[in-house]
Amino acid sequence: MKKDDCIFCKIAGGEIPSKTIYEDELFRVILDLGPATKGHALIIPKEHADNLFELPTEIAAKVLPTAQKVAVMMKDKLHCDGLNLVQNNGEIAGQTVMHFHMHMIPRYESDGQEIGWIAGKPSQEELEAIKEQITD
Ligand code: AMP
Ligand code: ZN
Repeated sequence: MKKDDCIFCKIAGGEIPSKTIYEDELFRVILDLGPATKGHALIIPKEHADNLFELPTEIAAKVLPTAQKVAVMMKDKLHCDGLNLVQNNGEIAGQTVMHFHMHMIPRYESDGQEIGWIAGKPSQEELEAIKEQITD
């Protein structure tokens, strides 16, 4: 289903033009307008879902095969040296467009980008407590 006021529904449906690098019945993959690196792309499902929590499992199951196809294109055609997959869910996680999408960010030696986080230093006990909380 499409959501009326959703820009990615309009892009995925072809109502708003985009630089499409791959398309099939479920997804449109477009170039990001504010790229982190050359070739930064977004995998956008044609069906609306706000985020990973809402994404139908059968569509979720096809996201990674699609990412793999496009990753091979990026390696072959852009000659990237590596690639980050980034997928934000919720404002706190940096999501700004509330239609599920996965970032594909080709990486190049000396591209100067930093994609990461500050590593914590939990004790074994703290890790155990978190494990219990999640799996309980
Ligand atoms: P996120 O912060 O994970 O929600 O990512 C949203 C991404 O969408 C950002 O990297 C934006 O640069 C990109 N973006 C927003 N509007 C458009 C658009 N119309 N066409 C292409 N990329 C867009
Ligand atoms: Zn949408």
